[in-house]
Amino acid sequence: MDVAYLDWNASAPLHPAARVAMTAALEATGNPSSVHRFGREARRVVERARDGVCAFLGNDAAEVVFTSGATEANRLALAEAGVPVIVSAVEHVSVLAAAGANAVRCPVDRDGRVDLDRLGALLAAVGEPALVSVMAANNETGVVQPVAEVVAIARRHDARVHCDAAQVAGRMPFDMAELGVDLVSLSAHKLGGPQGVGALAIAPGAMPVIATGDGRQERGRRPGTENVAGIAGFGAACLAARDGIADRGAVAALRDRLERRAIEAVPRCSVVAGGVERLPNTSALTLPGADSATLVMALDLAGIAVSAGAACSSGKVQASHVLAAMGRPDDIRRGTIRVSLGPTTMAAEIDLFVEAWSRIAARLDANHRAAA
Ligand code: PMP
Repeated sequence: MDVAYLDWNASAPLHPAARVAMTAALEATGNPSSVHRFGREARRVVERARDGVCAFLGNDAAEVVFTSGATEANRLALAEAGVPVIVSAVEHVSVLAAAGANAVRCPVDRDGRVDLDRLGALLAAVGEPALVSVMAANNETGVVQPVAEVVAIARRHDARVHCDAAQVAGRMPFDMAELGVDLVSLSAHKLGGPQGVGALAIAPGAMPVIATGDGRQERGRRPGTENVAGIAGFGAACLAARDGIADRGAVAALRDRLERRAIEAVPRCSVVAGGVERLPNTSALTLPGADSATLVMALDLAGIAVSAGAACSSGKVQASHVLAAMGRPDDIRRGTIRVSLGPTTMAAEIDLFVEAWSRIAARLDANHRAAA
């Protein structure tokens, strides 16, 4: 084993079931809006996938709008909400951007969990029905949010709840109907589907979202011919992910082993929010005094793919607003990387990581000593 892909939160490998569904769809011809038999067959593929997404979310009654990913789903949910918007301070940048500068940010605690008392106070202060956006689990730290409690508080204030479930999907159970959330964003490539497709699921009776452009497709919610093959792959990945969630104990065991061995090898490193409920596959590892971009590059040279916290877009490494909102000091924010696993991660990949991690830390120490 000379390479290790430990960046599943950036993008997961395509699931074989998604590949099969996509290949079949690519080999067929037809626009789902056409009335002839070819069009009708393409429409069947899209609608089957829509049913797959609904089943995955545990809400057969939800309206599912296919989008280009969670970014567009978040925009559809939030950008023209028409009511005051409250977002948690640790949301993905696409939520913060869609909610806009006027959105109120709800603080989080030291572990990155939304402050429920403050949320209640903010909702009371807004004084009119609002839209609250709180993610199911954080993409950088894996910290799981108390979504059911958020919904309960929102209901007391007649507010609706949007939940960015891009990272929880396929990793932990997430039942939209049981949780009572109104709007859910998903991205196919986080759960074994292809890149460039996702969905916004809208609970029956939830506030209407504003259609973009002329909105001729997707029941007027979104314009443009559907990405039939991508949607087919997304639907197949949802069904496969739902069936695979039972295996998450094995992923958690590997992640825990990685954390334990990384700390044994380099005792000054630590895990961000290691004491609270997290996704079973995610670890935010801190090496105080190190620089996350340097760590990512050094690990890449050793054949290991990880992320520098917030570096999901355009290869840029920016100071993490998530760790800042958690009140973590500068050296923690600068020296944190994200390691994320999946169901096909092997123990040998963990071994490769730990070996490289201790080698890199020792080299950084030697450099510091030489510079001192
Ligand atoms: N929300 C979260 C929590 C994410 O992790 C991501 C992907 N980094 C997105 C939204 C955006 O997904 P996409 O880039 O597929 O639109």
